[in-house]
Amino acid sequence: MHVNVKRLQTVNNKVKEIIDKKQLKTVPQIIAVSKTFQLSQIIPLLDSGHLHFGENKVQEALTKWNDLKEKNNKIKLHMIGKLQTNKVKKAIGLFDFIHSVDSTKLAETLKKNEIELNKRLSYFIQINIGKENQKSGILPEDAKAFSKHCLETVGLNVIGLMVIPPNDDKTSDYFKEVSNLNSDLGFKELSMGMSSDYLEASKYSSTFLRIGSAILGERI
Ligand SMILES: *Cc1c(COP(=O)(O)O)cnc(C)c1O
Repeated sequence: MHVNVKRLQTVNNKVKEIIDKKQLKTVPQIIAVSKTFQLSQIIPLLDSGHLHFGENKVQEALTKWNDLKEKNNKIKLHMIGKLQTNKVKKAIGLFDFIHSVDSTKLAETLKKNEIELNKRLSYFIQINIGKENQKSGILPEDAKAFSKHCLETVGLNVIGLMVIPPNDDKTSDYFKEVSNLNSDLGFKELSMGMSSDYLEASKYSSTFLRIGSAILGERI
């Protein structure tokens, strides 16, 4: 068995263990984050039946995934990186989920291109939970108005919040806060947790874990 498939199984087992132990209702979906990795590292995961993958650059994703997705329409591709409005058309054409909605302008451009291409994607609103200058995302206090705007005025199929918490020792607090905000807003899906903190995120009812290095190995 390919090492990546083994690592995916290990991650899966650890998540299931936490879900059982805490008697949680939802088993989160694992997104294998394949950014920077070649197809030779990705194909074994696909062959093992894994279908959810994440990329953070539109052009790289197109090069790697366009043909694969045409051959297998069950593949679900997630855009997890910052999305520039000039890349939106290509992104709408390729991806199934976009996790990084972070401005009104982006939301409107997404809708315009959905209509042009007659496609409908699922979206997450990125929350800047630590209010960090260098990070994208909507501030938690603006989340309600922004999500209402995206859903009702723009008409995007927003399914939940997404977060990349600050790199400090308060990860659980951030996860708890975003999880509460997510359910206050009535969302069913929640995108949080990476290789370093996916078990913690699972405890706070994350439904999509974005896991790169723990499955595909270190990025160089
Ligand atoms: C790269 C990336 C991940 C995966 O990171 P790992 O630490 O390798 O699991 C998750 N989310 C986002 C937004 C990323 O850019």
